[in-house]
Amino acid sequence: MENEVASKNFIEQIIDKDIEEGHCRKVVTRFPPEPNGYLHIGHAKSILLNYGLAQEYNGQFNLRFDDTNPTKEKEEFVDSIKADVEWLGAKWHGDVLFASDYFPEMYEAAVKLIKKGKAYVCDLSADEIRQYRGTLTEPGKESPYRNRSVEENLQLFGDMKDGKFGDGEKVLRAKIDMASPNINMRDPVIYRVAHISHHRTGDEWCIYPMYDFAHPIEDAIEGVSHSICTLEFEDHRPLYDWVVRELEYEYPPKQIEFAKLYLNNVVTGKRYIKKLVEDGIVDGWDDPRLVSIAALRRRGFTPESIKMFVEMVGVTKAQGSVEYPMLEYCIREDLKLKVKRMMAVLDPVKVIIDNYEEGKVEYMEVPNNQENPELGTRMVPFTRELFIEREDFMEEPPKKYFRLFPGNEVRLMNAYFVTCVDFKKDEDGRITEIHCTYDPATRGGNFTERKVKGTIHWVSATEGVKVKARLYENIVDEEKGVYNQEDGSINVNPDSLKVVDCVVEPELAKAEKEDKFQFVRNGYFCADIKDSSEGNPVFNRIVSLKSSFKLPTN
Ligand code: ATP
Ligand code: MG
Repeated sequence: MENEVASKNFIEQIIDKDIEEGHCRKVVTRFPPEPNGYLHIGHAKSILLNYGLAQEYNGQFNLRFDDTNPTKEKEEFVDSIKADVEWLGAKWHGDVLFASDYFPEMYEAAVKLIKKGKAYVCDLSADEIRQYRGTLTEPGKESPYRNRSVEENLQLFGDMKDGKFGDGEKVLRAKIDMASPNINMRDPVIYRVAHISHHRTGDEWCIYPMYDFAHPIEDAIEGVSHSICTLEFEDHRPLYDWVVRELEYEYPPKQIEFAKLYLNNVVTGKRYIKKLVEDGIVDGWDDPRLVSIAALRRRGFTPESIKMFVEMVGVTKAQGSVEYPMLEYCIREDLKLKVKRMMAVLDPVKVIIDNYEEGKVEYMEVPNNQENPELGTRMVPFTRELFIEREDFMEEPPKKYFRLFPGNEVRLMNAYFVTCVDFKKDEDGRITEIHCTYDPATRGGNFTERKVKGTIHWVSATEGVKVKARLYENIVDEEKGVYNQEDGSINVNPDSLKVVDCVVEPELAKAEKEDKFQFVRNGYFCADIKDSSEGNPVFNRIVSLKSSFKLPTN
């Protein structure tokens, strides 16, 4: 193992230093989603990072809804977000928190700034404020309302709160520095008038705080020690620090930024996922082709696999993008020893064993997972008529094709050796049935006196059960990339979903929602949480068995 200290990420190093220097009483982190959409894999990173740090330092992790903007928020999302965080295994401290519960404290904080001469009511319109703000190369211009007296500001701010002004008529601004090289510091708006009902506070307020003002206060009220956010807030940090300094918190929270998680050729942003949903390209927020947490769960990813993935990606300051196959690697690793390996035929063609007794059902004892004997064994019915994969038979095989073809002998996995003696085709040349003979001496498949090169899986045609399986490809057309350069739309792959009628071992028909299996040679599958019913599971392919991903070797 590497040296413990050296392997700590940059956030842990900051926290260690803060503790050492006595700036941190207790590590308190939070995950602060806006309830305006479902969470995705990027949020999972943030959740697990914040929760992980709280655990590591014996601290506290809060789940706080950042619901200060009533225009976009919905109660529906509160429940889904809670469910997702819970499913990921991140346990939040106490009750779920809501930023809107702090509206009274935020109002008082604004009053405090006014009294200190650090905030003023401004009558400029939104357009004028923008014009006055200046540019990256030019300083801003001071508002003519900048030097209102404290008394007048207090009066006007109270009037804003009391509903005496219409939307946009007046705002409260922090009085900082119109010449600051950081535009965020040029007297940012901290409160606006908006006569909109809020999903929790109703019509109690007609003024709402802006994010950059509200967020540090929320953190401070909760005793958050390290407020971890993504890089786009880096330029806002001076304002964050200004707010907590001017409000004179005894233990000011500290903002730390890290790079967002992006996956190559995958739609991650909330806004874009929403668009796919609204345009009907996918079947809801939890469509298994998406990377919302609900979708990943539905597809069959486990919390453990997501955790492994997030840890592999690591925490950095430098923006990068990782490959989706890395996520696939993690779920394969997680399921490898955990799930049963069963036989399912996705594209069935019939095999008839001419010399096998008609009507006989023979049970083969099969290990559930050759690499994990703890999973036990099961009995799999073998009969005269079977199904195998269509691609496991060829009339005229190329060289190095070791599966079934006329005259060739193969091993039926866990059963007998069979030799192809004949086959039938329809008018279109499609194989309709394959005839074989079996050798009773080869029972169990471990027969060693004669060698065969091919082993294929099978399911009894009479005892097996027909079910549907959904095979997925990337929803994005990978050749074109995610976004259309011209209009910013998403380049959609029209073949991202294929539903197949397959035949599975009887035991698979008993699968309960969310049960996961390996279908030998075909990948890992999960019984769909929504569309499965008793005795009739619908399987989602989580991932195939083949991998293009190579573990980094350092
Ligand atoms: P999106 O960018 O998808 O619209 P968002 O940032 O608007 O998401 P919020 O609800 O505001 O979503 O985010 C909650 C938390 O999740 C924030 O702390 C945010 O920085 C973090 N977060 C959002 N996207 C990612 C990502 N891709 N990687 C890591 N953390 C993220
Ligand atoms: Mg956001």
